[in-house]
Amino acid sequence: MKLNIINAKNIVTKSNLPDADYVINPYVGCQHGCIYCYAEFMKRFTGHTEDWGKFVDVKINATEVLGDIEKYRGKSILISSVTDGYHPIEGKYKLTRKILEALIPAQPKIEILTKARMVTRDIDILQKFDDATVGVSIATLDGGLSRELEPLAASPHLRIDTIRKCKEAGLKTYVFLSPIFPYITEIEEIIKQSKDHIDFFMFENLNLRPLNIKKVYDFIEKNRPELLEKYKQIYNKKDNSYWDSLKAKIQKLCSDCGKEARIYFHHGGFN
Ligand code: SF4
Repeated sequence: MKLNIINAKNIVTKSNLPDADYVINPYVGCQHGCIYCYAEFMKRFTGHTEDWGKFVDVKINATEVLGDIEKYRGKSILISSVTDGYHPIEGKYKLTRKILEALIPAQPKIEILTKARMVTRDIDILQKFDDATVGVSIATLDGGLSRELEPLAASPHLRIDTIRKCKEAGLKTYVFLSPIFPYITEIEEIIKQSKDHIDFFMFENLNLRPLNIKKVYDFIEKNRPELLEKYKQIYNKKDNSYWDSLKAKIQKLCSDCGKEARIYFHHGGFN
């Protein structure tokens, strides 16, 4: 993996995501290297030619460029959107931890989204915020498929265990079923296994874009060739009926277990 130590001009950016005012990405690139990742577009802006997952820029001056933290009081900050604040290199540089520590006095609402169990290292810091939420995203419970999809992320079962530990530590928690792979993501089983450890669920459909479409279709062809035609029906012919009926099913499953369902289907379109 290519590692670069860089000085960032700023570290906090305004968010256009539905649940966050600001986003902090302590790293450029992400070691998890998920094949469906939407963040690969970052390479266009940063000049990286390496494959996604094979480079990381460490924003070594992250806490110095936080600026006046008081402006984040009462605001929500997501860590992270185009990297994972707890991918393996965080164990060495601890940027996410240092950023969180620096933000404590301003008490913004913190939202962590990760696929790593390292977030439990920072439970002590997260407990110092009045409002801190930890989410893990899960695309499948199948360990073999997950290793192909998300090579360096924690196994799906470890992610559920991670969220359990965060919940037991008094943090707010959620599971983000994302991206939902049609006919593969075990929605009912993920809900069943995680419902006792979370406050709410989030759901997002798999979006196919120029950067991930070949990798996703190669993955389907290799692992679930019988689904190829169904994927083409959904994506190439833009048949939304699959998502419409899935949405109704999800709402029922969540209401049956008394959990809020935040569903972000069609967000960003299908291509
Ligand atoms: S963990 Fe998130 S940011 Fe990192 S590669 Fe996977 S989808 Fe992309």
